[in-house]
Formats: sequence, structure tokens, C-alpha cells
Amino acid sequence: MRLLVHQVNVPLSYDDPTILQRVSRKIGCDSDCLANPKIVRRSLDARARNPEPVYALTVEVDFNLPSLPPSATSPAVEIVTGPTEDEIPSTRVRALPETGIRPVVVGAGPAGLMAAYQLAIAGARPLLIERGDEASERAPKVAQFWNDGILDPESNVLYGEGGAGLFSDGKLTARSKERGRIRDFMKLLHTCGANENVLIDAEPHVGSDALLTIVPRLRERIIATGGEVRFRSRLDAVIIEAGQLRAIVVNGHEIACTHCVLAVGHSARDVYEMLANRGVALQPKPFAVGVRLEISQSAIDRAQYGRFAGSPLLGPASFRLTRREEEDVRSCYSFCMCPGGKVITCASEPGLLTTNGMSYSKRSLPLGNAAFLVPVGPADYPEHAIPALAGVEFQRKLERDAFTAAGGGYKVPAVRLVDFLAKSVSAALPEGGSCPVAVPVEFRTLLPDFVTTTLEKAIPPMLQELYGVKLKDAVLYAPETRSSSPLWITRTAEGESVNTRGLYPVGEGAGYAGGIVSSAIDGMRSAEHLLNTL
Ligand SMILES: Cc1cc2nc3c(=O)[nH]c(=O)nc-3n(C[C@H](O)[C@H](O)[C@H](O)COP(=O)(O)OP(=O)(O)OC[C@H]3O[C@@H](n4cnc5c(N)ncnc54)[C@H](O)[C@@H]3O)c2cc1C
Repeated sequence: MRLLVHQVNVPLSYDDPTILQRVSRKIGCDSDCLANPKIVRRSLDARARNPEPVYALTVEVDFNLPSLPPSATSPAVEIVTGPTEDEIPSTRVRALPETGIRPVVVGAGPAGLMAAYQLAIAGARPLLIERGDEASERAPKVAQFWNDGILDPESNVLYGEGGAGLFSDGKLTARSKERGRIRDFMKLLHTCGANENVLIDAEPHVGSDALLTIVPRLRERIIATGGEVRFRSRLDAVIIEAGQLRAIVVNGHEIACTHCVLAVGHSARDVYEMLANRGVALQPKPFAVGVRLEISQSAIDRAQYGRFAGSPLLGPASFRLTRREEEDVRSCYSFCMCPGGKVITCASEPGLLTTNGMSYSKRSLPLGNAAFLVPVGPADYPEHAIPALAGVEFQRKLERDAFTAAGGGYKVPAVRLVDFLAKSVSAALPEGGSCPVAVPVEFRTLLPDFVTTTLEKAIPPMLQELYGVKLKDAVLYAPETRSSSPLWITRTAEGESVNTRGLYPVGEGAGYAGGIVSSAIDGMRSAEHLLNTL
């Protein structure tokens, strides 16, 4: 029989005999009764109360006796009755007969790439269009933006092959229960060059440098299986007749199209406006805004790993902090933590600026950062003639104010946390911050009162949970506006727009996903829905 054994603690440098020995101890049997261990999941446990840091594994293993000893208790030990990890049904779609219909996918971020891949392997010969450049041409434009403040509005940190996820931390956090699709996505990333850790780690990380080679290989696979990819191709409009998509306009030219996966991300505000003007159903959605906070990575490591901090076997530590809402202030949460990474500036429209974080595969830079966000909703900002666009205008205002306050040129407003708490401007920012274009600004001129008052009350106690981290070392950058979409492009359970047949809004821009993995999975799912209609 095959067993699934949870919470098998092994040292950080382990091998198969060690795993079998620890599993045998857990089950209460001789290790000779066990064979073929396979790690299904791995997470780090470096709490100071442990004698040493360990990996907590979930392991599948063959058990060669007819019945389990009574000491093998559920739920720690399960008999595998369904498919084993290797047999989890793949989401591979059936091959299509020739239909004459060629679906179009708009946007080459995680959602669009995975939708196009699913359509291609089904034989649907998708056309994938992307407004920005391919990764190798996009990278120098991003460098030019960060170094010289020159923005290419079509190809930048947010637009281009790989989407918003390319210059990111590359955290592959998967909260979805869709094991089959997640497994297929991770396997595909591994085949395209991602470290094998992506197959087992609870919170795998790839890094921006690795993504720059992985994503083009994924594109090559789409092409090799019958897809076509066009860069510098921007969707300008959709043409809808009697509630059915008939065509799209790309770079001014009309292309007949009855099936379109719309995976444009949530920075494509021009697409939102175009959809609203064409009558496609949109709905306002709550989102969050705030700041990005940067502190010393070694202080985070000490807080999280205690006496194990500095061990070469441990990667840099991360954190997740939350603060409940109180009578006079809202809730606050940390988001998108980038250990050993850097704070970056992002823009997709001239004269507007937002912050985010990224890291390289080694995560070896001396500082860590995370967003600290406060929830917002339609009651917080002025109404708009098209209600769903009110949140977009609110984001734009914060981004415009930040650009202006920092003196233009895509410099970013920053303040030491202690000065922010004292309601003043920093005389100078600490040497060695990760964002070289930061300039001191008073944050109360940038962010609404309910955001600054919440951050003032929430951040100090939140940081206290990281024992030893000093408030005086923290620096804030603002504004953080693009953690999730401010609207839904409303869709049915089958992934189709509620009022436009043939239009499949997916990923973060549609409001139904957030993050690389969830957007990729959403893209796969939508492609499968679309294929079912062909
Ligand atoms: C700096 C940064 C760091 C991040 N770090 C992480 C992380 O570590 N882990 C994580 O899970 N998530 C991270 N995220 C979030 C993650 O990147 C997004 O959730 C994810 O990329 C969304 O995928 P998507 O495909 O839905 O949209 P996007 O990735 O935004 O892709 C949309 C694509 O559509 C294209 N497009 C837009 N309009 C048009 C048009 N009119 N015509 C043609 N093409 C168009 C865009 O150019 C873009 O390439 C990060 C985001 C940023 C900005």
C-alpha cells in the first residue's frame, strides 16, 4: 500500500534514508518496511523552540506490510486511496477537431500565457497578442526607466512579456485547492527552467532573473504547439454585435474574433475605459492602498529565526503581519513581502507613479520590504459617471500626487518611519536604501487621512511582532496602489462576460485572481471553458 505521511521533520540537509528513518519512527515500524519516498510538500520550520531548524515534509511512501501498526494514527498517516501525487489528473485538454475558429488571447502575463498554452496544446492555434516587448527587449527599457526616469508607456515594469510578474519577487504562493492545475503549472515552469523546488516547496520562489529566461521558453512552447505570438500588438477595441463578440481592433486594424481571452492585468486602465464605453459589464470591487516598508533583512532574520539567524542553510526570512480594525482605524496587513529584495518604482501611464517590490533568485540583498495595506471601497472616493471606474480614478489621483510631490522624473516619495509617525518630512533618508530614486516627502500630502491614521496606529505594533526590529531603521515608500484590481469584469461561472458572449475576462485584471499562480490557474481554467464551447 502507498501511504501519505504528514509532518515528517528532517534536518535541512536530508537524504532518502533519513526520510525513511523518520517516517518509520512516525509510523512505528521498521524502515525496511518502507520504500520509494516521494516528497509531496516541504515547508521550513525554524522556530527558536526547535533544537535545530527542520523541514516539515509531507511524504508519500510504499509500505510493505498488510496492515498499519496501531501507532500509525490518522490524520498524520493516511492510506492513499485516490491518485498518488504523480497520478493527479492532469488538466490537459482534449485535442480539438478543426473548427475554423481561432481564439485570441490578449496579454502575455501569467494568465494570458497559460490560457494560450492550454489552447495551443488542445490544437486551437491561438493568437496571443501583447502590447509590450518580448522579455529580452523589455528588460533594457525597464532599466532605462529605473536609471533615467524614461518611461515607455507600452513596454515597462507592468507591460510586456511575462506581465506584471516578470520584474517581481516571483513568489509562487498557491492558495487554490486545484491541485491538478497547480501541479501542471509548476511542472511546466520546471520544464522551462525553474528550480525543482517549485514542485515541492509550500512557498516557492523563482526570482526576477530566473523568470527572464523561464517566460520566453514558455512562449516558445506555445509557438511549438501551434500558437502564434505577436508583441507590440495592442488591443484598442472590441466590436460587439447583439451581445456577441465579432471582432477586435489591434494597432488600428480589425481582426475577426468570436472567442477572446482578455488577460490584460489591472494596470490596463485604457482597456477598462474602452470596455465600459462598449457596454461590457463591469462592477466596482474593494481593493487596498498603502505604503511599502523597508527594513534590514538581518533584523528580520533574527526576529524570525532567533539563534539560527545567519545559518547558510536558511534562506532570508519573510513575514506576514496583520492588524485588526479598531474603533477609529481600519485593518492593516502586510502584503507581497520580498526578502533580500528591493523597492521598485512602476508606471504604465506618463506622470503617474506607484511602488512595488522585487527580488532576484538568491534574495541576497541586505534589505527586505513588504507593502502595508489598508482596505478601501467605493465609499472612500468620489463617484464617477461609470461607477466601476471610480476606483481607477482614485488610484490615478494617488499616483499623480506622488509623481508631483517627488518632483517628477519618476522619483519616489519616501520617509523614515519615525518621521512619518512624528508627522514630519525626513531631513535625509538613510544611506544604502534599495531604491536610489527616493526623495523625502511628507506622506500626509499623498495619502488620504484614513490611510495615514491607520498606518500610524497599525505599523508600530505590527513591527513589534518582529522582535528586535527597530522602528528607527524602517523607511516607507509610497504609494502602493496596485495590489489588486479595483473592479470586476463580471463573468459567469463558465468564465464568459455576463453580457458579451465570446469574451472571457481572466486573471488579475478581471478581478478574479491575484498573484502569479492564481492568475495562471485562472487563465488555464478559462481556456478550458472556452474550449468546451468550440
Ligand atoms: C513588481 C511586482 C511584483 C510582484 N510580485 C509578485 C510575486 O512575487 N508573487 C506573486 O504571486 N505576484 C506578484 N505580483 C503580482 C503578479 O505579478 C500579478 O498578480 C500577475 O502578474 C497578474 O497576472 P495577469 O496575467 O492577470 O496580468 P499581468 O501580469 O498584469 O499581465 C497582463 C498583460 O497584458 C498586457 N496588456 C495590457 N493591455 C493590453 C492591450 N490593450 N493589448 C495587449 N496586451 C495588453 C500587459 O502588457 C501585460 O503583459 C507582483 C506584481 C508586481 C507589479
